[in-house]
Amino acid sequence: MADIYLTNSLSRKKEKFTPINPPKVGMYTCGMTVYDYAHIGHGRKYVGDDILRRVLAVNGFEVNHVQNITDVGHLVSDADEGEDKLEKGAKKAGKSVWEVAEFFAQHFYDSMDRLNVLRPTTIAKATEHINEQIELVRKLIDKGFAYDTPEAVYFDIEKFADYPKLFGQNVSEKKVGVRDEVKGGEHKKHPADFALWFKTVGRFANHTMHWQSPWGDGFPGWHIECSAMSMKYLGEQFDIHTGGEDHLSVHHPNEIAQSEAATGKRPFVRYWIHHAFLKVDGKKMSKSLGNLYTIEDVEDKGYEPIALRYLFLTTHYRDPLNFTWESLASAQSALEKLKQQILAAKDGERKSLSSEKEEKIEKFRQVFIEAVNDDLNTPKALAVLWQVLKSNIPSTDKYDLALYFDEVLGLGLSELTKTKIKIPMKAKELVTKREKLRAGGEFGEADKARNEIRKLGFDVEDTSKGPRLKAVKN
Ligand SMILES: [Zn+2]
Repeated sequence: MADIYLTNSLSRKKEKFTPINPPKVGMYTCGMTVYDYAHIGHGRKYVGDDILRRVLAVNGFEVNHVQNITDVGHLVSDADEGEDKLEKGAKKAGKSVWEVAEFFAQHFYDSMDRLNVLRPTTIAKATEHINEQIELVRKLIDKGFAYDTPEAVYFDIEKFADYPKLFGQNVSEKKVGVRDEVKGGEHKKHPADFALWFKTVGRFANHTMHWQSPWGDGFPGWHIECSAMSMKYLGEQFDIHTGGEDHLSVHHPNEIAQSEAATGKRPFVRYWIHHAFLKVDGKKMSKSLGNLYTIEDVEDKGYEPIALRYLFLTTHYRDPLNFTWESLASAQSALEKLKQQILAAKDGERKSLSSEKEEKIEKFRQVFIEAVNDDLNTPKALAVLWQVLKSNIPSTDKYDLALYFDEVLGLGLSELTKTKIKIPMKAKELVTKREKLRAGGEFGEADKARNEIRKLGFDVEDTSKGPRLKAVKN
């Protein structure tokens, strides 16, 4: 197998991947703060992690993939009032924080299932690891890296000499990026010091979730959970840590500082992988713009969630991707064509291979693995899949290769059956529209509708029993 290369945010370079204890690989992924619906932006990030995990697996590594669920301690941004996101979500929903956490965690994993994202080997909830977090805070206080104040226990970033160097950030510029614990944190020594343990005093006097600790009643800060839980399941040093690019400025430097300060071992994590954001219609996704789409929204418009996965794979994970409904329609259409060709290949006659064709097959396999091993180059990997389908190798060998590639791509190609080609709702709607136009004599417009249907991978056949949709052969 070719070596795997990953862009490590620590060095900002592509590095050869060498795990600490092969063939085992420890991988930690920052999970959801479960106070609201998972959207397609989450989808992109976790599909990216899923590809990484699958690439490691086809290369023969045994991946222990740990993901947290943040169900306490994550505060809202500076623009808001600095409540805990869970408490805010609960108020909005008129439910308890526990119910809200349960509901949205379920929604998150359901959404990821539909995108064919493998479930992590271990899912760790922050509220189920309070003792581990308290232990870690205690260690940091004992070693002089943290200090107690009337409102919270803080990490003292000036005691951790390397803090400014992490991910090439600058601490003096960080004041802007500091979360709003500052507002309630009048006893902080440095504005970028961050809370390890909040006390149920002042603005948090009525906080619903709270536990006993050596520093009084309270709840853990957001960052400490990831250090405590990743080290519990993967050891004090492990291979890969992933997250969104938004974690580069605060959350991940804080995790490194806490962990390395507590254990005295570095690096805490060898490879840090960060996913670029998904934009919608060229804009940042936000509730106020109404462009925060869920997987249900995708389905309601007649598209398959796997088409969304296909769309994600067409762009490299470190490049920004702009989502539009048109781009999803193209992805759906490409997916339909892909499925049809693979089904056709599946039914082909199995032939014995000439040595020339055998070489060709081996070459395809090699080029595919080189692409995905080269910092997860999924656009190139998809291109190789299409080349295979267009090539002159026997169709059953095309099928075998496609299934092998799909161990990485995760497009569900092995589960394809003839009946599984689902006609998208959008295509059905267009058929109805076309019928109305034809009945009204608007044939030009009707033809336009037919072309739109073709873009979705289907053609309309006018039969004596009315119009019928047929998958387009390429
Ligand atoms: Zn985290």
